[in-house]
Amino acid sequence: MDKSWITKAKWSRDYVNGVNNFIEFASQSQNSLGKILCPCKSCINRYFHSMKDVKDHLEHNELNTKEQNDHSEKFSNLMQDAGAELYHGCKTFSKLSFILNLYHLKCLHSWTARSFDMLLELLVDAFPKGALLPKSTYEVKKIMKAFDLGYTKIDACPND
Ligand SMILES: [Zn+2]
Repeated sequence: MDKSWITKAKWSRDYVNGVNNFIEFASQSQNSLGKILCPCKSCINRYFHSMKDVKDHLEHNELNTKEQNDHSEKFSNLMQDAGAELYHGCKTFSKLSFILNLYHLKCLHSWTARSFDMLLELLVDAFPKGALLPKSTYEVKKIMKAFDLGYTKIDACPND
């Protein structure tokens, strides 16, 4: 069964169609009372409900899926992480804005990955302990990728 609709916006046609298909599919496995297990966020396949109620839950509670949980958890961790001040009391940079600025410089001036690594090492040593600095080019690229910021120019940075 196609489950790609799970990650779609709840008001989208794909999601609504997905709910309808799911109900139709699940109706084959209804119990003797005509009820099916509800996969919504609060029932998590633990409770039986009528198909009408399940439909209702899915339209209001969203589905509980591992992918979706992973995705939203990852994203909120990422957002929290990125928005954090670079070091305690820093008012000019968040972790993310600093990384973006650094990486922009790297690409602008064609620093090699090795020289960028060395600069990062130096910065880590120089900044207050606990500063949220990336420790390597690899780490920076991972963060850039996670945000998929559409920086195609930066992604195409030739010296990595
Ligand atoms: Zn439910």
